[in-house]
Amino acid sequence: MSAVFSNSTLNTLIRSDTFKDTFDNVVKFQPQLSKLEQIWASWYTYMNNDILATGLMFFLLHEIVYFARCLPWFIIDQMPYFRRWKIQPTKIPSTKEQLYCLKSVVLSHFLVEAIPIWTFHPMCEKLGITVRVPFPSIKKMGLEIALFFVLEDMWHYWAHRLFHYGVFYKYIHKQHHRYAAPFGLSAEYAHPLETMSLGFGTVGMPILYVMYTGELHLFTLCLWVVLRLFQAVDSHSGYDFPWSLNKFLPFWAGAEHHDLHHHYFIGNYASSFRWWDYCLDTEAGPEAKAEREERMKLKAMNKSKKNV
Ligand SMILES: [Zn+2]
Ligand SMILES: [Zn+2]
Repeated sequence: MSAVFSNSTLNTLIRSDTFKDTFDNVVKFQPQLSKLEQIWASWYTYMNNDILATGLMFFLLHEIVYFARCLPWFIIDQMPYFRRWKIQPTKIPSTKEQLYCLKSVVLSHFLVEAIPIWTFHPMCEKLGITVRVPFPSIKKMGLEIALFFVLEDMWHYWAHRLFHYGVFYKYIHKQHHRYAAPFGLSAEYAHPLETMSLGFGTVGMPILYVMYTGELHLFTLCLWVVLRLFQAVDSHSGYDFPWSLNKFLPFWAGAEHHDLHHHYFIGNYASSFRWWDYCLDTEAGPEAKAEREERMKLKAMNKSKKNV
């Protein structure tokens, strides 16, 4: 029986043979819930198996959101009108290249990511991640997601920087750098070990959070995964528009930041924000390099002046 309702009698009363009837019962007996909460509750009650309900939901959420978000970028790549905003305008990925990437990403989704997704719910239960309705307040969910963005970015910066050292790069991260001019679909084109270790930032940070606080809602986790997928695909899109988020939030990394990383292979290791690369002087690109060299020159000059 599902844990979506705290009351087991309610569960038995609502559950029906079809999803539609279950949903109608939820609307009838729980009118105070929002539409989204009613759909969520119907899904869990109808499935009557929380492990399967969570596993299937996360798998479908990942597939649908990832590929639906990649599709507009694929279409934009076919339209010359958008070239004016392409960061590396001469490097348009061919359809053949994109199809190769698509095949590889689909295979990795089924082989590498399917297993952890199916074991996710039992772990959620142990940790205290709840599926119960109603959902937490928008403010609570917003603050938690903002925190996950900051923590994931920190993890991503250090793990990604490590992946650029010797053997880690040669045997693992090189695969992701196949494309010097990235495109949406290439966001998850990576070695399985990279998917797992960088993926820890997305899944592991909320786990550490719930281990510390003792409460987190699975719906918050769903929203977080959706937004993180948007961030990952968009940062690989290869386009920087006048309306891109980094134009309004200067600390947001966006495609411009990550495109430079793929272009020059060095620097810009963070995922969502610019502060780690800025503070630790690892910004990528010729401008950042020139500034860095200028600073080093000044430092050396000051040092020699002091010694005179
Ligand atoms: Zn890299
Ligand atoms: Zn990348």
